Parts: sequence; structure tokens; C-alpha cells
Amino acid sequence: MATNNIVVLGAGVSGLTTAYLLSQDPANKITVLAKHMPGDYDVEYASPWAGANYMPVGKEGSPHQAWERATWPALKEITEKYPEAGIHFRGSVIYNRKKDQETATGDWFSELVRPNPWYKDVVPDFKTTPTEELAPGIDNAQEFTSVCINTAVYLPWLVGQCVKNGAVFQRAVLKHIADAAYAHHTGLKADLIINCTGLSAKTLGGVLDEKMYPARGQIVVVRNDPGPMVSVSGTDDGEDEALYIMTRAAGGGTILGGSYQKHNWDGLPDMNLANRIMKRCIKVCPSLVKEGQGIEGLDIVRHGVGLRPLREGGVRIGKDKVDGVAIVHNYGHGGFGYQASFGCAYATISLAKELLRAKSRAKL
Ligand code: FAD
Repeated sequence: MATNNIVVLGAGVSGLTTAYLLSQDPANKITVLAKHMPGDYDVEYASPWAGANYMPVGKEGSPHQAWERATWPALKEITEKYPEAGIHFRGSVIYNRKKDQETATGDWFSELVRPNPWYKDVVPDFKTTPTEELAPGIDNAQEFTSVCINTAVYLPWLVGQCVKNGAVFQRAVLKHIADAAYAHHTGLKADLIINCTGLSAKTLGGVLDEKMYPARGQIVVVRNDPGPMVSVSGTDDGEDEALYIMTRAAGGGTILGGSYQKHNWDGLPDMNLANRIMKRCIKVCPSLVKEGQGIEGLDIVRHGVGLRPLREGGVRIGKDKVDGVAIVHNYGHGGFGYQASFGCAYATISLAKELLRAKSRAKL
């Protein structure tokens, strides 16, 4: 059997999902190489900070929509078949205020909150809230069943699946993408590199993608469990502040968010923002605390900040060649890296197969 020596650079959700699928083919010998691995918390590593849930935001007709559409069945299957992966189904309520439309947060959520969205046929139990039941200030609302992923369980689960399929994990910090070709665990030169370096694609030699920029997301993790997940199109506290609540599977706590601060690289929590996040979450979802309580009723696990790896023009999934090394890029997933993870990995693998086929033809 011909073998393909592949290095996946990056162990966030993009790299791990791609490696997980690639490793299911015994012809692929995979090394996952990364500076940060599941278990690490670092502002350069977005994946552990995510909520994470499935709240589609891809515009109708776009590749982004196709990736999110393709990801739901995979997340659903993992949720049903592998409870140890740390994902559960969770009810979800979405509130739209038309006045948020022009804000950074409103723009990000525009597809999610619009009435009659494309994803109504994808997620289970989609239901529009009757107008007469809407709270003052809310223009439309909908409910559906989504998932919430405990990233502290799910990312190690993906590592375990890859290891079970023979993939080898190694820590390294690369200065140049082409160096990855010489880091395959067999000692042989890799046939292909999959680049899943997220925001660091901006500074990685051989890539230096100037289109990459962060959208800073601040969160509070609490032990309180309010019930269904909630997302709102915006807040009255600032145009780049956000309001969402999600309770993770398997004891992962509840994530209170947030913010969507473009071009802000600050990795430290801002305690004023944290106060605003907690106050508005309680206002929209009083069941977070006992009756009559304010933020003193929240049992805080930690404050956190992650940088969503955004890219002008959208995700980069494409073939490349740098210093004679074949590469497929899969980075720039902004605030949707989990909910588009399988769709993006399928697209990446289809390009990887084209390159590997061309390589084996050239060898004949
Ligand atoms: P990362 O997780 O950043 O991983 C990059 C990897 O590349 C790391 O392993 C890193 O060490 C490695 N790397 C980079 N440079 C090098 C180098 N030079 N050498 C070696 N290794 C290198 N998405 C959702 O779908 N749903 C949500 O609910 C959601 N909520 C979010 C909430 C917050 C607060 C934040 C911050 C993000 C959220 N996201 C959500 C977005 C999601 O987290 C990201 O899109 C996703 O994690 C990006 O994953 P990635 O694998 O591309 O990048």
C-alpha cells in the first residue's frame, strides 16, 4: 500500500478535525505538530476558549454556509454515539433587535438572528416565537436544539481518536511553514503539509498572511446552570460587546459572553467588561441566579480571553507550494471554527487528495 506522509501543523479544532478525518485512512501517516496542545490555555491558542456551540452565521449561498451545513450531521453523530466526546444537545433561544444591525456584533450575528434563516432545515426543533410573546425591544426570536461542546473534553477526545488511528503528536514552534516538511515522525520528508495555524498564519514564515486579524472574545465561566442557551444580536453597552450564554456538557460550566473586539490583541480580562457581561446575562436570563440576586449570585470559575482568528475575505482553504513543499491551508475561522470544523476539514482533505494523487502520478 502506498503511504502518504502528512504533517498537520496546528492542534486547535481545525488541525485536530482534519487530522481525525485523515487518520481514518490507514494510507495516511500523520504527524500533528503544534506549539500548543489541548490542555494549554494561551491567548495565541483560540480553541480552548470557545463556548462552543453551533450557531450558524454563514451567509446563504456562501462556502461558509456549506461548511456549517456539512458540520451539523458530524457533530450530531458524535453527540449521539460518543458521549465521552463532551458534547450535548441543548435548547437554544435567539433574540434579534433590529437596532443592532450596523454594529460589529450585529453584523457577525446577522444570519443567525434573521427570521426564516437557512439553517431552520438543518437543526432540530426550529420554531419562531409568536410576535405577541416577544419581550419589549425584541423584534423577532427563534428557538432550536443546538449542541454545546465542552472544549476541555472534546479537544483531548479528538487527540485520542487520532492517536488510536496511529497519528503521532509532537510539540514544536516553527518559524517557517516549509520546515514542517522535515518534521514528520518517520524522519522522511513529508509529502504534504496541512496548515491549521489560526491567527499565527499572520506571522508564520512562508505564509505571512496580512489579512489575518483578531476579534477579541472575553468570557466568564461560572458554575451556575440557567437552562437553555441564549444569544442576542447585540447589547446597549457597546457596539463590539456581545451577549450569549451556553452551558457546556459534562460539568464544563456555563460560558457567559462576551465581546467581538476587532483588531484588539489584549489577552488580559478587562474587569469592567466582565461586570457588564455578568450583569447583562442575568438581566436577559434571570434563572442564572437565585431570585433577587445580582452578580454576587454567580459562582465564578475563571475569567478568560480568546482571540478569534478572523480573515478579511474569509477562511483560507486552498492549495499552495512554498520552497517546493506542497501545502493545503485551512485557517481563518473567526468565531465559527467548531461549527464549520467538519465542513472545512472535508474541503481541505479533498484538496489534499488532489495533491497526493498528482504526486503519485509524478512518481510513476
Ligand atoms: P487555534 O485553536 O488557534 O489553533 C492554532 C494551532 O496552531 C495551535 O495548536 C498553535 O499552537 C498552532 N501554531 C500556530 N503557529 C504555530 C507555529 N509557528 N508552530 C507550531 N504551531 C503553531 N467557534 C464556534 O464554532 N462556536 C463557538 O461557540 C465559538 N465561541 C468562541 C468563543 C470565544 C471567546 C472565542 C475566542 C472563539 C470562539 N469560537 C467559536 C471560534 C473558535 O474558537 C475558533 O474559530 C477556532 O478555535 C480556531 O481554531 P484553529 O484550530 O483554527 O486555531
